[in-house]
Amino acid sequence: MKLVTNKHTGRKVLINKLRDSRENDFLGHEEGNKCPFCPGENEEKANFTINENEEWQVKAIDNKYPALVTNIEEYQKNNCDYGKHEVLIETREHLRNFYDFNQHEFENIIKMYKNRYIELDKDENVKYTIIYKNHLKSAGASKIHSHSQILSMSFIPPEIKREINTLKTDSLWGDKRIITENESFELFLPEDSFLSGEMIIENRNSGRFNDINDEEIKDLAKSFKEVFDKINKVYGTIPFNIYLHSLPKTIRSPKFKWHIHVIPRKGKFGGFELGTGLYINSLDLDEMYNKFCKR
Ligand SMILES: [Zn+2]
Ligand SMILES: [Zn+2]
Repeated sequence: MKLVTNKHTGRKVLINKLRDSRENDFLGHEEGNKCPFCPGENEEKANFTINENEEWQVKAIDNKYPALVTNIEEYQKNNCDYGKHEVLIETREHLRNFYDFNQHEFENIIKMYKNRYIELDKDENVKYTIIYKNHLKSAGASKIHSHSQILSMSFIPPEIKREINTLKTDSLWGDKRIITENESFELFLPEDSFLSGEMIIENRNSGRFNDINDEEIKDLAKSFKEVFDKINKVYGTIPFNIYLHSLPKTIRSPKFKWHIHVIPRKGKFGGFELGTGLYINSLDLDEMYNKFCKR
């Protein structure tokens, strides 16, 4: 498990030979297989829970198929990359998801994000930590039960380096259309987004997610509720990805504010995207803005 640079393309690649054995809910043999995220499964293994009425509401467990080497001794003696990888289970209910959650459920999810982020990121061997979510198969999920993932890394990944470098000379976002805002966050559509329909929820106060306070947790829950209600009304309950970008602990950049990318997955990638490294953004921003703001 190691970050390497591909000699042919110069791209960074994370080599991990074990992850192919992951079980997949979407292969058609779901019936009869117990969901590992439902109540009653893996109950003894929780790294974190929020309990109400003596039942967990959200729960963090180790990822059975970690992306990196999780053992610190192995990392120190071998030529490999290190990190912790957890699954963040967002509900007790097998089919409840981001399109159904209420304000309180989102607040519990964000509190779990905060706890696990601070815990994984404080490890001195860790240079970067990311929280991300894949919803449904075509967005990369292997389990239908609503969950996010958190991965800490012994290196800073290329995408975050690129964002920080952009900020040295330019602003991170070009033209943007603000859909909604509150005290702590701005929710907007960037004009030149990488993928059609991408939305950004950007914090106003800090570069680092570790700093999120109780007020901001409430405001972010409000923003999540709003954005997923809007996506549901415009596109239906489609697959999506989210990922959280926060400043690495070793880097100072006053202009950088932590933010969440929300990407409704309307289209699929094909040969053009793979062959050119370009994604076609077919977004008509005016049309999109009208759709989102009229609802
Ligand atoms: Zn389940
Ligand atoms: Zn970003």
